[in-house]
Amino acid sequence: MCESAHLIPKKTVEHYSYKGHDFSLENIEYAVCPACHSEVVTPEQIKRNEARICDEHRKIDGFFTSAEITQLE
Ligand SMILES: [Zn+2]
Repeated sequence: MCESAHLIPKKTVEHYSYKGHDFSLENIEYAVCPACHSEVVTPEQIKRNEARICDEHRKIDGFFTSAEITQLE
């Protein structure tokens, strides 16, 4: 990627799996380099994306603790 290029911010839907649960998140951020068209994720975008992924992980954790804890044995 071109460090000096002005990256174009984009959003996409990403699919994840956590503890056997599949989930998808809309508006996951990434950027495209206008010079070479490579896709990159900036550190700030990674931070925001990961915060949202962690939220989902916590939801799944909560789901497990309340409903499916016996299946974790
Ligand atoms: Zn580039």
